[in-house]
Amino acid sequence: MKNELNISTRKIEVRFYNKENNDIEFKRLKELSTLVDSAYNIIINNQFFNVLLKERISHLSDIDINKKKIDEEFKLKELLLKKKECKDDKEIEKINKDISKINKNINSYNNDLVKIIEKNIFGESIQNTTYGILADDEKYNKIPSGIRAALNSQLYKNFNNEINDILKGKKTIRNYRKGQPILFNNMINKFEIDINNNYFFNWNNFKFILHFGKDESGNKIVIDKIMKGEYTYGDSSIQIKKNKIFLNLVVKMPKEKKELNENKILGIDMGMVNPLSYAIKNTKIYGHIGNGEKLRNDRIIIQKRREILQKSLTDNSLGGHGRKRKNKAFYRLSNYERNFVHTKNHEYSKKIIDIALNNQCGIIHLEFLEGFGKDTKNNWVLRNWSYFELQTMIEQKAKKYNIIVKYIDPYHTSQKCHICGKLGNRETQSDFICINSKCENYNEKINADTNAAFNIANTDIFPKNKYDTLFYKNKKEKSIAI
Ligand SMILES: [Zn+2]
Repeated sequence: MKNELNISTRKIEVRFYNKENNDIEFKRLKELSTLVDSAYNIIINNQFFNVLLKERISHLSDIDINKKKIDEEFKLKELLLKKKECKDDKEIEKINKDISKINKNINSYNNDLVKIIEKNIFGESIQNTTYGILADDEKYNKIPSGIRAALNSQLYKNFNNEINDILKGKKTIRNYRKGQPILFNNMINKFEIDINNNYFFNWNNFKFILHFGKDESGNKIVIDKIMKGEYTYGDSSIQIKKNKIFLNLVVKMPKEKKELNENKILGIDMGMVNPLSYAIKNTKIYGHIGNGEKLRNDRIIIQKRREILQKSLTDNSLGGHGRKRKNKAFYRLSNYERNFVHTKNHEYSKKIIDIALNNQCGIIHLEFLEGFGKDTKNNWVLRNWSYFELQTMIEQKAKKYNIIVKYIDPYHTSQKCHICGKLGNRETQSDFICINSKCENYNEKINADTNAAFNIANTDIFPKNKYDTLFYKNKKEKSIAI
């Protein structure tokens, strides 16, 4: 059985190993980059030329095969006419058989024709023509063959994806501007570490140092794993961007298959201070996802702008063009807002699934939040967030990994202590204090969202609908009592 792979591209800044030669080296790399940029356009233009040439040749009537093809096409037309006028079922069946025979012939003539054209005009294959053009050219054969081959195969692929749209006039041929990535095959043999702990590699007579910077995406670990042989890498590229050099390394990582455990339950709380908080039942594992303050500010700015626009729209003094323009702006802003939430939901749901997988959680608990208008927290979350979209995304992603998503009764999840279950104090929005002197958490200040997330993970009450929730039942009892 084949091992499944995750493929991702790591963008890592690189610098020349020998700083003294920096200027000369940079000039040399830039020259190569410029040459590669024009190779991009040469390849694409010549591939287009090939297609047009093939089209024209295939219509020349003095080619033998074409003569046969035209004969068959004529027969086909006659048969189609005959079929239209025919009323005898048996006769129609016979005609149909003849038609399919002729179609087969035409197809095989077409295939032969393509083969003949490719062999006589383009040599072995159409794809290789542009590789040959570069190789035969005094200027372009200075580009190493590993780069030429990678460029040619990648561009041929792109071109074939677009050619039908180009011929239909829906697209134009691409024009590659300067600064394109220098694609290459098999040109980095290995990564090494020198005595100063610098990671370096050789590529096409250049020696580069990997510069990880803050390394928020953990690139150093990836290179370590490549050096240990746990990961491999494929066709990659080097690119100059604003006088910096980047290696776009295509890394292939085997998919880790972790067994999920249904006793490991991940609780997710949505809050005002932290957009999402999580905790795993019976562990000390918890944390937050997203930056609440930034998120709130961004949202408030968008909402303020929208309110102002809305106000001015209901103001009747505006007429004609001004109104149209503002309507447009209003529409754009709403759109932006929707996309903003949508993107965040994708990001958050992915993080939740990652946390579940990394901790082998077989079950995720979310709050059943439908219809709780009066509770401040739920009110805020529902008003400011497309919570149902987030739930749906979590469910979809969880399904892929066979993680079960359950909805718990949200009653008192943020008011009771997750250790003893007794109601506690919420001095501020962000803190929870247990007031049960018998509890091991007595009088200790803990993050209110974390406490809620643990409560959500611990709960095993799953309402089927809102009438089933304690919040609704309690409200009902109260109103009867009065
Ligand atoms: Zn307690």
